[in-house]
Amino acid sequence: MFGVYGAPDVAPLIYRGLFSLQHRGQEGAGIVVSDGQFIQSVKGQGLVSDVYTEQAASLLSGRSLGIGHVRYSTTGSTRIQNVQPLVVECVDGIWAVAHNGNLVNAGELRRMYQEAGAIFQTSTDSEIMVHLLADPMYRSRPHRVARALQQLKGSFSFLVMTRDCVMAARDPLGFKPLSIGKLGTAWVFASETCALRQIGAEYVRDVDPGELVVADSAGLHSTFFSETVPPALSHCVFELVYFARPDSVVFGKNAHLVRVAYGMRLAEEQPVEADVVVAIPDSGNSAALGFARRSGIPLDYGFIRNHYVGRTFIMPDAGARERGTDLKLSTVPEVVSGKRVVVVDDSIVRGTTARRRISALREAGATEVHVRISCPPTAFPCHYGIDFPTREELVAGVKSVDDVRRVIGADSLGYLSEDGLLMPFERPSSFCTACFTGRYPVDPAGAGGKKALEARNGELLLDL
Ligand code: SF4
Repeated sequence: MFGVYGAPDVAPLIYRGLFSLQHRGQEGAGIVVSDGQFIQSVKGQGLVSDVYTEQAASLLSGRSLGIGHVRYSTTGSTRIQNVQPLVVECVDGIWAVAHNGNLVNAGELRRMYQEAGAIFQTSTDSEIMVHLLADPMYRSRPHRVARALQQLKGSFSFLVMTRDCVMAARDPLGFKPLSIGKLGTAWVFASETCALRQIGAEYVRDVDPGELVVADSAGLHSTFFSETVPPALSHCVFELVYFARPDSVVFGKNAHLVRVAYGMRLAEEQPVEADVVVAIPDSGNSAALGFARRSGIPLDYGFIRNHYVGRTFIMPDAGARERGTDLKLSTVPEVVSGKRVVVVDDSIVRGTTARRRISALREAGATEVHVRISCPPTAFPCHYGIDFPTREELVAGVKSVDDVRRVIGADSLGYLSEDGLLMPFERPSSFCTACFTGRYPVDPAGAGGKKALEARNGELLLDL
């Protein structure tokens, strides 16, 4: 998500911000802008560059506030209705809503509104926010947003826009990042700090967990919407393991440096005799550097990445992911042939991709392949905004480490420990580790899977 309040022409800034956040979602993009009176929106499926065409740029130009979103589906399918920001007209004007995260009580709230006669247009969990905002129970604007946020459970960072203000909010446990920046006199909001830097904005601070920040003609003001103080925060540690861009500062830490530290710790915890360390690019680059530094084994480019293939992890279906994986990486036989190779990556999900890569290294002449993973085994699904498969489909969810090693065809396999995962942080208890430990900070009962809302809504939505 990316939003700007108070610049003369926000659309090009939002475009550049979203472009920097493309790694967070590749299925659709949208930009909504306002001049204080009229709201314009452009949305489409595909990449930001597919949506923000010359025609869109001219349609959106000269507006002083706006928000944008790139879509990665963790609920709802890949179709245009689900692309955000969602824009609706209520009794007191137009609202635009962009969401990052996953609402575990969206199904229950949706059913409640449907029984009262509400009509839903999308199959995303995010749409429930629109209905809460439109609910006549909550009249005045800041209260309306705060009261709406109080009804939600799960992980959420939101950008909400009206014709004359931009609001930013984070759930009380702080699952997902959301930062505030300043560009001259304009206020900027971004899911990651790399997007602030891209437009030359200065990082000011993060939106605090449970905080609602409003940027309007009176400046920047803040309120806390959470009625209860949570026992501990639950920042998503997977943002630092993999999801965030390495040049972003997330939850106060630079993602690249955290990954280098993971690689160094991994070399201590899971040592191996080998001739060369290679990364699975780009996700394993930083950890491989750390592993090489600590182990003294030289780092080299055993895989080359084709940059015209997007991020395969966030592709919406398994077929696309596998085709993308095959196209994305190729081995360099001159680097690995006749060598004992340590391959460093950030995670093993189903095991199919890892098996193909190991087999490619052997075909390229590697004599041994040792796999090192810079986090503990991913054994549980995420209900808060990362599209992992079910426990049964996660290879580490149903198999021991040695069985996973056999499945992927490695000579050895070693994971980072849970202690190692939390070692870079001053307050380890403020992180969610549920996909590794099964300790869910918010009860996920009712969250369902990615297709849960479609399934609940049967044939009508499947027909679209
Ligand atoms: S379960 Fe894993 S991916 Fe999901 S929020 Fe927690 S740490 Fe992040």
